[in-house]
Formats: sequence, C-alpha cells, structure tokens
Amino acid sequence: MNTKQNSDKPCLKSPPPETPLIGDPDVFRRNLLRWFKKTQRDLPWRCTSDPYAIWVSEVMLQQTQVNTVLSYYRTFMKRFPTVHQLARAKEEAVLKTWEGLGYYARARNLHQAAAMVVDKHSGCVPDEWTELRRLPGIGDYIAAAVLSIAFQQPLAVLDGNVKRVLSRLGCIAIPVNRSTGGGVYQDLAQSLLNHNHPGLHNQAMMELGALVCSPRNPQCKPCPVASACCARHKGAVSQYPVRAAKSRPPLHHVAVGVVLKNGHLLITRRASKGLLGGLWEFPGGRQMTGETAEQACIREIREETGIDIDVIRRMSLVKHAYTHFKIEMTVFLCSHTAGSVVLNGPVDFRWVKPGDLEKYPFPKANLKFMPLLKSLPELPSSQ
Ligand code: SF4
Repeated sequence: MNTKQNSDKPCLKSPPPETPLIGDPDVFRRNLLRWFKKTQRDLPWRCTSDPYAIWVSEVMLQQTQVNTVLSYYRTFMKRFPTVHQLARAKEEAVLKTWEGLGYYARARNLHQAAAMVVDKHSGCVPDEWTELRRLPGIGDYIAAAVLSIAFQQPLAVLDGNVKRVLSRLGCIAIPVNRSTGGGVYQDLAQSLLNHNHPGLHNQAMMELGALVCSPRNPQCKPCPVASACCARHKGAVSQYPVRAAKSRPPLHHVAVGVVLKNGHLLITRRASKGLLGGLWEFPGGRQMTGETAEQACIREIREETGIDIDVIRRMSLVKHAYTHFKIEMTVFLCSHTAGSVVLNGPVDFRWVKPGDLEKYPFPKANLKFMPLLKSLPELPSSQ
C-alpha cells in the first residue's frame, strides 16, 4: 500500500498480512509504543494537539535536527501563536524569525499557507488529505504527519530516520537516498502502522531512528524492537541502510562587498522566489573564470546595483554549505565612489546604519561575518 499519490487521495486499505519483519507485527507495534511512552523526549510540539502547532513543528523539522529546531520553534510560536497571527504577519517578519534556520522556502510557504487556511478554511487546518496537500509547502510527509498526529488518521510517515529503521528492520537493500524504490519503504511503513495510535506510532518510529537506531552505532541491545529486526538476526546491521554514491557538491567562489557611504552600509533584497528568496544580503555574486575575487566584487556590484566602488580591504573568507553546493565567499570592505543605486536582480535596497542591520533577515553565510561590522575602524559611529 502506498500513500504516495498518483491521484490526490491516500490509500487507506488494510495493511498486507506479510512483512519482512521477524515475528508478529502486533508485538512489534506494542513494543515500540510501550518504549516510546516510557522514553520519549519532552518536546514542546508533543504537549499539544493544536494542528497549527504540530504543522509548524513538522515544517521546521524537515531537513533540520531537533536540537536546532527547539529554540526557533519556541520563538516562532511566541511570535505567531495562531494561524491568524501568522497569516497577518509581514513576510519579512516571518523570515526574520526564521533567520539562520535555512531552507527559507519553508517559511515563505508556511506563511502563504497560513493565509490560505484563514481565507479558505476559516482558520482551521484542514483535516482532509486533498485539502491539506493543496497548501503551499505541504508534501506527502507533512500531510501524513499532521493528519496522523493531530487528527489520528492512519497514515504512515516516511522521513530519513524512518527509512533507515525500515531498511534495517526488513533488510531492504534499496538505497535510502534515491527516490526510486521509495514506494517499498512507504508500503512497509504503512503495513506496520498501528491503526489504533497512528500519531504515537509515527512519532515512535522517528524517535527510534533518532535515539536508538542511529546512523552510526545503532543501539541494538536495548532496542525495543530488536526481536523483530531482520538485520540484527542476520548479524548484518552494518550493511543497512544502503546508500547510492553521491557526487561531490560543486564549490562556487563568491565575492561580496560591504559598501560604505556616509556611515551607512548598502544591503539589497533578493526576489521572493528561489534560493534565499526574500532575504536581505550584501551585494555581490559568483566569481567568473580568470577573475580575481576583488574584480568579481566590483563587477557584480556594478551589475546588480549600478554603483561604482573602491575596495578598501579584504575582511573575511566565509565557507558555507548549501544542500547541493558549497561556497567560499570573500568579503571586502568597499567605499561608494559614484552613481545612484539602480537595481538589476535584487528587488529592494537600503543604506542602513550598522546598528540597524539586525532588523533585517539575512542568510547564514552573511550572518557569519556580520559580527565584524560592529568594530569597523572605518565606521567610528559603530564602535
Ligand atoms: Fe536498529 Fe538494531 Fe533496533 Fe534493528 S535491532 S531496529 S538495527 S537498533
């Protein structure tokens, strides 16, 4: 059974009787649930049945570790405690609260989806698959998580932790980092689901992957489902999960300028769509072949903003990794020499005092060098 949708609706038929697990699946379900109830971490999104709060947590937890999410979640829920408050907020305020968490499309989609929930669903998070999947940023995983945890609907979730656990439990040799074959994992997850407690079961599977069946050194001895585990019985735990070889992410060299003019710094805003959409940044861009970082900085700033600059000095080299590529960003302190800003690419700009920078949401790569701006000798007022 596969909840991945060809049509809009998930399949909720009875699970198939056979699983690759050892023993009775009901024993597996009971052991897993008993363990989870006893040992689960005390996390703020587990103390609520509010679908909005659960939805926010699941959006944040995609691609991000629990420990990183915790403080962001608390701040976000304090700032936007209801879907109405999120819907009313300005995008920039939402991005500022999300600043540093990465994958900013999640925040923009959540914000847009909140507005749709208020407009089309009277502020109630839909409890129906098709309606929920229509909201921006809600894919199969988040829909299954929200519907099972908040509404007790029998839908199994499949994230990286769950896939790893399943590959070991069932000795499944299909690479966990390829979408092909994902249906096998989804079918197995669904066949193992505890239909009496789907939300708890899903959280227990994810918790098992996070705390016990970890990527390295799985704790098989105290594992609550060891008796059902195929890999453990075969003595083959180290062989699972199988991962397809990944190519190395490319490295891009980037140059940006902190441009000074009368004690103010130039920042520009990226277009709303795409990577880091809607965030503010210091202007600059990719270094071209045969070009030095300094030349790239001058050219990029002229192309993006129409102004001329002089490079005063190199300030920093920032290394940062995105999902599919890495950057090495050379940061220059520059002075404005001529021209007024005429944008080509960015959608907005400001000349701001250093002390006002914290009002704007910036990408993490910019945040890494921004502490240096507090003590620039070229900016006496900032000292
Ligand atoms: Fe993972 Fe080991 Fe438990 Fe199997 S027995 S599920 S490999 S921790």
